[in-house]
Amino acid sequence: MAGVYVHIPFCASRCSYCDFFSTLRLADFSESYVEAVIAEAMMRRGELRGEAIKTLYLGGGTPSQLPLLLLSRLVYGLKEALDLSGLEEFTIEANPDDVTPQWCAALRPLGVNRVSMGVQSFEDDILRLIGRRHTASQAVEAVGNLREAGIDNISIDLIYGLPRQTVPLWTESVEQAIALRPQHISAYGLTYEEGTPLWRQRERGEVAEVPEEQCLEMYRILADELCKAGYEHYEISNFALPGFYSRHNSSYWDGTPYLGLGAAAHSYDGTVRRANVCDLKQYISAVSSGRMACVEEEMTWQERYDEQVMLGLRTARGVDAGRLRQTFGDAAWQYFTREAQHCIEAGSLRVTEDGRYVLTREGIMLSDSVIRDLMWDA
Ligand code: SF4
Repeated sequence: MAGVYVHIPFCASRCSYCDFFSTLRLADFSESYVEAVIAEAMMRRGELRGEAIKTLYLGGGTPSQLPLLLLSRLVYGLKEALDLSGLEEFTIEANPDDVTPQWCAALRPLGVNRVSMGVQSFEDDILRLIGRRHTASQAVEAVGNLREAGIDNISIDLIYGLPRQTVPLWTESVEQAIALRPQHISAYGLTYEEGTPLWRQRERGEVAEVPEEQCLEMYRILADELCKAGYEHYEISNFALPGFYSRHNSSYWDGTPYLGLGAAAHSYDGTVRRANVCDLKQYISAVSSGRMACVEEEMTWQERYDEQVMLGLRTARGVDAGRLRQTFGDAAWQYFTREAQHCIEAGSLRVTEDGRYVLTREGIMLSDSVIRDLMWDA
């Protein structure tokens, strides 16, 4: 199986914490961009080597900013270029203020069956502070609009550790998220990315970073409350009601090939990783004139080992030691099992009956350091 990711690099405004590749120039470039993505799909369809495409993910940026006519042109163009007849999950990312009844009604006819929405917080003051364009009540309304339109697989994103966010405020956000009962919740700790407006505000002392222990406490509350409410903690940052794991994101974690289309998109064909240019004009110009807009990314043996260990440990499925041995040989396997033994003794790791190494509850809380300990530094 394989997945396809399409990057839609347009936003209506920039959030102060964000360093994703996106631009505000939707009106100038959206048409030529959509045509370029379709042309790229035509050009690169062979890269998936006949693997059946099971998931399609439109991410961003803000895909919900695309005018509906262009969204439809994109989807039909992709259907002409790629065999999407076996598609099982088709996700589009959205910002709550774009999720109108009219927008929602257009989704099912296009084949969209999952919407991932950037809610981030249910605190209007915090949303304003980080430059989000929506309010908490708009997020609630958006979920209602999606359900009315028959979209019954909804994911929401939250961020913890935001400036001025206290543990009680975060607890309220988690409770409100649970009350909405989305099928899937992703939650990420805020990172101050260098060069972003929020990073500069912190440098000038205008906002204060939430202390690490408080962030850990927020994560603990998140995991406890969601698990109590019936969500499965299937990846460090991801929770889902039974049967609603993100199939597309799971394929990133288990090494399934995916084709990334659009500026700044990444691809993996099972052997080689490729990265598209992070420049809109260069991307459009290259692809429109029949040239590839990507470069191959060579990974060393060590990088591939580290990635397999890191991605495995992030998920509830853990690291399959047998697969690790098959891929990297006896020396790597011995190294991994020896280091893992220390973590097992410390209570942060356990081995399942079928030989998978999985983080314990305590290990999840310390995941960064446990993963670091198991990386290859021989
Ligand atoms: S809408 Fe999303 S991609 Fe755009 S600036 Fe905000 S966080 Fe970044």
